[in-house]
Amino acid sequence: MVPFRIVVAAMLLALLAQHAGAQVAPKPAVTLVEKPWGKLSYKKLMQYGEKALGPDPDAWRHAETEHFVFHYHELENAQKVGQMAEAYYQQIKSDLGVTQDRFIRKNHVFIFDDEAAWKQFGTAINLDGWASGLASRTELFLFSPKAGRVSVGSLGHEIAHCIFYRFVPKPVPLWLNEGFAEYESSHAYAQIQGVEDRRFPGGGPGARFPLPELLRATKYPKERVGEFYWASERLVRFLLTKLDRRKFLPLVQMIADGTRSEDALVFIYNDRFKSLAALEAEFAKFNEPSAKPKWPF
Ligand SMILES: [Zn+2]
Repeated sequence: MVPFRIVVAAMLLALLAQHAGAQVAPKPAVTLVEKPWGKLSYKKLMQYGEKALGPDPDAWRHAETEHFVFHYHELENAQKVGQMAEAYYQQIKSDLGVTQDRFIRKNHVFIFDDEAAWKQFGTAINLDGWASGLASRTELFLFSPKAGRVSVGSLGHEIAHCIFYRFVPKPVPLWLNEGFAEYESSHAYAQIQGVEDRRFPGGGPGARFPLPELLRATKYPKERVGEFYWASERLVRFLLTKLDRRKFLPLVQMIADGTRSEDALVFIYNDRFKSLAALEAEFAKFNEPSAKPKWPF
């Protein structure tokens, strides 16, 4: 389970506000096919999904797309989520260089629009009170209050977790899981919407977060959650945009198979770095503040 941190929600909302004028529909258009529960092509749920569905599946409306099954009450909401989810799926698959999906099964996405029902579900699974969404393996749960308004910000981060798990169905360290979701919540969004990816510029709050500490973190560091997310996103961005992108998936798979992050990094990128210290030095340069534009522009 990966709780959705409030600090991330704030950052995503800021990002969305930044692009509020660029609400271009994702391409290609995705059509949701509404079906009764009994006719869905994939009905198997995990523990949280069972709790979300409740005893009466007909209390929800259901629909599916190529890779997702949606449960919701407002069709307009579900259509927006469906379009975004499939667009993120294609973008993330492309970014990872995945040629063959590991799963035939579909991801389940529950969209709550009633606050009382969301809180009741949160209590049932011990979700932190401030969360507005969470991903748990291939299942996604979103709270989207008010008719017709979907929490797209939560979707981007959480759907990235779900899709990542689909391609790498094993636990990975916190930095990699959160860093990838953060990176894609901006990168995939920018690609889909045709806007600039302006996430987390250099010189941010986690610029001095020690790399060994970042790689070994098994809990969100108290008082430094924002720094941790920043540094995690920057490391994934560094690996995907400054080093050989084709090596990223082998790195992830090696780590998912049990190799320590620091050992896997040095092994996979040994043509560039002979030690973790050498990689850390390059990463530190990447994290320096961007040069300020000179006046006049
Ligand atoms: Zn997360």
